[in-house]
Amino acid sequence: MGNKRIDIIVPCYNEEQNIEAFYSEVRAVASQIRKSDAYENSYCFAYIFIDDGSKDGTLEQIRRVADQAAAEQTTVKYISFSRNFGKEAAMYAGLKASADAVTAVSEEAAAGKGAAADFAVIMDADLQHPPRLIADMLKTAEETGCDSVAARRVSRKGEPKIRSVFARLFYKLMNKYCEIEIVDGAVDFRLMSKRMVKAIADMPETQRFSKGIFAWVGFDTQWIEFENVQRLSGETKWTVWGLTKYAIDGFIDFADSPLKFAGAFGGFIAAGSAIYLIIEIIKTIVMGKDTPGYASTICLILFFGGVIIAILGLIGEYVGRMYLETKRRPIYIEKESNISDTEEELPIER
Ligand code: UDP
Ligand code: MG
Repeated sequence: MGNKRIDIIVPCYNEEQNIEAFYSEVRAVASQIRKSDAYENSYCFAYIFIDDGSKDGTLEQIRRVADQAAAEQTTVKYISFSRNFGKEAAMYAGLKASADAVTAVSEEAAAGKGAAADFAVIMDADLQHPPRLIADMLKTAEETGCDSVAARRVSRKGEPKIRSVFARLFYKLMNKYCEIEIVDGAVDFRLMSKRMVKAIADMPETQRFSKGIFAWVGFDTQWIEFENVQRLSGETKWTVWGLTKYAIDGFIDFADSPLKFAGAFGGFIAAGSAIYLIIEIIKTIVMGKDTPGYASTICLILFFGGVIIAILGLIGEYVGRMYLETKRRPIYIEKESNISDTEEELPIER
């Protein structure tokens, strides 16, 4: 019987076609892991599905899987949001559920209740993250003792060219200007140790950019590479605008270099102007007054007007984020869940 637990966290938005297939594939991998000689039933699996305000039958599908699981003595927990809060919020909810269960258990450990989740795995519901990699991740984590094993796509096959180009550019900029390093091709598919999950669940920011957060919390990370896979059914939720916004958010969340750049640019212009002013004064003294050109004056006024407005807009981006952050709104609102507050004994899968 498993005394170590792995939580599988799955954010789902309009994935009714995929839930069941996903669950049965992951279960197959889980049972392989459990039965393998290497682990001799030392692991059990629990599933945490997050329904991110889906408009289709996703929640019904999750409930069905949960009922079926209960009959098989497997634990499937779910949280359903009151509306679509985005994948970031869904991932946070899952990690928090995992971390909270961990705390509940360690507090109750003395009373002999439950088993602490040793690892949490975040993965997509559309089977674009091959479940078989969970076994590789676990193996790597066990062998190296690292806190995180993350998956990295080595190809962007099947993705629109333009998306790949911009994605590459984003990673370049991000790594140049932010203190954290974000690996190109990294997807939100990773196995994390209990302490890393706790560290992430303890980060209260409402505007979340997980790729950055995973890197920011630190801990040793090992990478596993895989080929891009098409989603099982349905369509990607990313629009061009959505991705652009995501990239800007990610950048601003982890970099203050644009502000520093704005400051440096201002300083440079000020210094240049001072030199120019001195030259003009000397010229006037030496050569007497001359009528300055109208066009050049207008050009300079327009140019600096534009620069000032652009920099104000940039500062506005940061101020706007501060404004939203200071409201301390919850990251998500739960509509329904089968996780009870007085969490009973934790999942034991047979
Ligand atoms: N997702 C979510 N909330 C959203 C959008 C997506 O929970 O608002 C989930 C979605 O159900 C899937 C994962 O996030 O499990 C990745 O989404 P998608 O496949 O659309 O992204 P892609 O794989 O194209 O990057
Ligand atoms: Mg996908």
